[in-house]
Amino acid sequence: MRILLVEDDELLGDGLRTGLIQYGYAVDWLKDGQSADQALKTETFDLVVLDLGLPKLSGITVLQNLRARGQTMPVLILTARESVEDRVKGLDSGADDYLTKPFDLDELCARLRALQRRFSSRAEPLLVHDNICMDPASHTVTFNNETISVSRREFALLQKLLENSGRVLSREHLTQSLYGWGEDVDSNALEVHIHNLRKKFGQNFIRTIRGIGYMIDKSKEEK
Ligand code: CA
Repeated sequence: MRILLVEDDELLGDGLRTGLIQYGYAVDWLKDGQSADQALKTETFDLVVLDLGLPKLSGITVLQNLRARGQTMPVLILTARESVEDRVKGLDSGADDYLTKPFDLDELCARLRALQRRFSSRAEPLLVHDNICMDPASHTVTFNNETISVSRREFALLQKLLENSGRVLSREHLTQSLYGWGEDVDSNALEVHIHNLRKKFGQNFIRTIRGIGYMIDKSKEEK
């Protein structure tokens, strides 16, 4: 899952970035509203964590522009504790949730998981697909009731594919959701992760769609 973090406070931003990476997210951190607005026009993110008080362009404007373009990705806003007005304005401008500063990283991550579930129309916290069961909260996967060890990236890739089962995801989209800017990415990194997942969950589990990308079929129950 790739997150755009927009926060101008160096200390808070740095702590959040580090924490979110530890939780398995790919994180891109921007420090002003204008560059966030620009990035959101051109890049694909799964979630946005948006501070409202930002230089150059306010968080509210970034949010309003995003929704005006018809982009539906979940947005969690960060506000000052005393500012009820900001929270109301943020929610009315299309934010999906908010946290007031200071907050706990565990709570932020739980809220992000909840947003992700809602966004993929999934009330169940567990992601179940035939014999695979993923728990995004504990970062565990079982296959035929046995725990399978997967790397952070493999977990993120598997989750992305399962949440979009029945749909083809392009190589570019998948790579973007796994890596943030400035990360050194081998040109065949995605293929390596796909290869590893096939080894663990079966060769035919992930289909290659030539020239486009990859997909997992809908689970048997959904067909
Ligand atoms: Ca700020």
